[in-house]
Amino acid sequence: MTVTVRAAAKINLHLGVGPVRADGFHPLATVYQAVGLYDDVLVADAEEWVVTVTGEAHVALAEVPQDGSNIAIRAGRALAAHHSIDRAARIEIHKGIPVAGGLAGGSADAAATLLALDRLWSLGTTDEDLLRIAGELGSDVPFALLGGAAAGHGRGELVEPLEDHGAWWWVVVGNAVGLSTPAVYRHFDELTPAATDPVIPDSLVEALRNGDLELLAASVGNDLQEPALDLRADLRRTFADGAEAGALATLLSGSGPTVLLLCRDAAHAREIAGAMQAAGHEHCWAVPAPVAGAHVVSYD
Ligand code: ATP
Repeated sequence: MTVTVRAAAKINLHLGVGPVRADGFHPLATVYQAVGLYDDVLVADAEEWVVTVTGEAHVALAEVPQDGSNIAIRAGRALAAHHSIDRAARIEIHKGIPVAGGLAGGSADAAATLLALDRLWSLGTTDEDLLRIAGELGSDVPFALLGGAAAGHGRGELVEPLEDHGAWWWVVVGNAVGLSTPAVYRHFDELTPAATDPVIPDSLVEALRNGDLELLAASVGNDLQEPALDLRADLRRTFADGAEAGALATLLSGSGPTVLLLCRDAAHAREIAGAMQAAGHEHCWAVPAPVAGAHVVSYD
């Protein structure tokens, strides 16, 4: 028997970053939204843990580990340990989410693996326990289980669903050259020696609740944007091209290098994606949001 689970990429509509903590993490106040770019994860019983990774043409598969360091295997082992069971699985990941793009593709795979193995092995793990195991695997993993829109605190792992009544469209502009998340945080510390405790803007929560596009455009923001642009001057052109193409807002995705362009509707998103491709940005996707969190798509 196999179980296949689909999990979406995330973006941060707001990413507020505070001063680095003693444990090396930064306190975050973030608003997550799940967008329509997906990885699929298939699991089946096996004698030993094994992972294989395939993907769409734009995915840098060489950067994804195919051994025990793959976060999907770490997720599987964590679930087995939680239930004190000695079982293993074969995990087949098919990636549509670009790697190291600030879209939490690895976290999506971890969340998908937790859910898939819970179903394959009929474990009946509570939502609370799944979220806790997810949070220990990585800051963005709990949100990948939830999907929709959510506030994130702590390192981002403490998630609280938010009402989101919009039917949003984004153009996601990928970048062939990845950007190291720790390097961007380090540069944030250099540029922001007096960072204060981050908060989520009320206007953003209201924009989501009311599906208010203009208010959303005015409320998005990311404290990692300036440090990332400082490290990667080429991204400034992507922002300028996005604004010229008519995006209602331009935003760095997480720690980058992916850039997000807010659009009016599906037709506008397709138009902007076309303009960006014509301007030389090869990998652009027009995607809806919010979309669902990790969910089963087939039992075979
Ligand atoms: P983060 O901000 O957590 O670095 P990201 O969205 O920028 O996330 P990911 O696509 O999650 O980037 O990949 C980050 C790194 O994690 C990769 O460079 C890769 O070495 C490692 N990794 C481990 N497992 C996976 C996986 N299943 N998919 C993608 N990357 C993985």
